[in-house]
Amino acid sequence: MNIEPLIKVKGLTKYFPIKTGFRRRTSGYIKAVDGVDLEIFAGETFGLAGESGCGKSTTSRCILRLIQPTGGEIYINGQDIAKLSSREMCSVYRNMQLIFQDPYASLNPRMTVEKIIMEPMIVHNLYTSAERKNKVNELLEVVGMNSHHATRYTHEFSGGQRQRIGIARALAVNPHFIIADEPVSALDVSIQSQILNLLKKLQQEFEITYLFIAHDLSVIKHVSSRIGIMYLGRIVEIADKKTIYTKPLHPYTQALLSAVPIANPEAKRERTILEGDVPSPANPPRGCTFHPRCRASLDICRIESPSLRDVGEGHRVSCHLYN
Ligand code: SF4
Repeated sequence: MNIEPLIKVKGLTKYFPIKTGFRRRTSGYIKAVDGVDLEIFAGETFGLAGESGCGKSTTSRCILRLIQPTGGEIYINGQDIAKLSSREMCSVYRNMQLIFQDPYASLNPRMTVEKIIMEPMIVHNLYTSAERKNKVNELLEVVGMNSHHATRYTHEFSGGQRQRIGIARALAVNPHFIIADEPVSALDVSIQSQILNLLKKLQQEFEITYLFIAHDLSVIKHVSSRIGIMYLGRIVEIADKKTIYTKPLHPYTQALLSAVPIANPEAKRERTILEGDVPSPANPPRGCTFHPRCRASLDICRIESPSLRDVGEGHRVSCHLYN
């Protein structure tokens, strides 16, 4: 039986023009997202990992249409939303929310917690005024805070508490799909696990599907069911969590995983050091964009870009070694 994905992204691109000169002419493009294909199934957590600047956040913002993609298709429950108008997107946003990376910058310091959580309900014209107040109190309890926090301002809270407020705001419209963009990277390690466990608990309670973005592979491992690895605007490998962590195929995934510390002082793992810097997305290398840093590079890698191929059981990899 074929299960239809909740989110399906095909050939997604986002190019930012480079403007130069007095007349601000377009002299090139930064290819932040360059042909991303992925599917996310209802109820799962799809982890998107990769180095900073690889296009993870731009991909998520394109899926949410917070920025307009340059090309590609984005299906949500079978409906292509890539070309919907802002007005048409309004009803879609009820089902899709974003948890931001920075709990300090993402909450308006002039608004009380109650107003922050209530705002999405007002925008989507949900509930009466009394119901909204009850809902705010209920959401604060759900995220591990108290109803008496509702009248306070965000500067009175710690980073972890602010992120809980951000999560309560995202839950305010009962979304089915949430993009969590590096939701714990700005928090202390001791707080990170609390927020990750809270997100997992909420997923079971409210049947939420997550796209979870992080550069930290230990964090991704803790929360994800399937994982996509991004490099220079493209997904280079997708598989379920166990396969990615035990049998990674792409040389880039192998190098990333070799850098993750093992919680066992006896265990030894050979570290693969990636040489060279990540090439500029304004001028990506020809062929496989990873070839200048790849130890396994073949002649064809300098000429032809590999496509993302299924190598069995949903494991897809973009590398000429597995053609
Ligand atoms: Fe390395 Fe070639 Fe595979 Fe790219 S396609 S990862 S250069 S072996």
